[in-house]
Amino acid sequence: MTRKVTVLGSLNADTIMHIVRMPKQGETMAMHNATTAPGGKGANQAVAAARMETITKFVGAVGADQNGIMMLNALKDNGVDTTYVKECADVGTGSAYIMLEDDGSNTILIHGGANQSLTIADVTDATSAITTADILVAQFETPLEVTFKAFELAKQNGVFTILNPAPATANIPNELLDLTDLIVPNETEAEIISGIPVTDEASMEENARKFRELGVQNLIITVGARGAYYSTVHGAGFVPAFKVNAVDTTAAGDTFIGTLAAELELDLSNVEEAIRFSNRASSITVQGAGALPSIPKLSQVQAAFNADVK
Ligand code: ADP
Repeated sequence: MTRKVTVLGSLNADTIMHIVRMPKQGETMAMHNATTAPGGKGANQAVAAARMETITKFVGAVGADQNGIMMLNALKDNGVDTTYVKECADVGTGSAYIMLEDDGSNTILIHGGANQSLTIADVTDATSAITTADILVAQFETPLEVTFKAFELAKQNGVFTILNPAPATANIPNELLDLTDLIVPNETEAEIISGIPVTDEASMEENARKFRELGVQNLIITVGARGAYYSTVHGAGFVPAFKVNAVDTTAAGDTFIGTLAAELELDLSNVEEAIRFSNRASSITVQGAGALPSIPKLSQVQAAFNADVK
């Protein structure tokens, strides 16, 4: 049966400003170029799940503006159901301003906009999209109480919940973690939440212990070009990343999560295999520029896998 994934999350219009260097305070500076593209963790993760051929639904909000139309089209073009994306009359679509310097470093400013206007009532309206899913995925770019409500509905109906705690916050309410089946932070986010720096595998095991104490039993920490660590009720291990020539790591983590939502058995019996596949998908994303354009389709990931085996 086709996997059903519902993503509750952010929809952001990304403006990428290509600049020589960061301007000084008070300085006026010309850019090389400025481009706008669909983004936001929620959108990226939903598109990744949809490209892995799941039935994907989105719960979120946009403004009644051009960026809102761009975001809705980006979801629809990828086959994501947008029935439960609310259009706000009085607030603009969320946006991110990415200052990309010539040396490759980036500095990002985010305006939550419509993402922050999502309410518990919107989640209630979207009940059927949540309760009929196999997996519900959420991040922290939408209000916390809204995620809590959605996770509550999910767990009451036996839906598996994945929390991507990004951007990280130190004090996640225990009540939310109790409703989380699997948490997937990157190394920085894991450290902010647990207080334990992620270095070697022993530190990752310590993180897993701390997360269990906080109320969540299953943990995957993504560690960039190194790969991903997992600790679940069945055991723990490390799955190395694929060695590729990375040109832009934007959406690496989002591709990983969307693919995982598509591939993971709900009893976590194939966690290692699902991580290997998600690592493969992300390794394709980092070889292309931008967020959505570089997220691979299922056939591309399968072809890369087959090439590895040969
Ligand atoms: P985030 O984008 O949230 O910071 P990570 O940087 O940890 O997440 O990357 C997520 C996953 O993407 C990693 O677990 C890995 O599989 C893959 N990945 C990231 N960077 C690279 C890279 N340079 N080479 C190969 N795979 C990568």
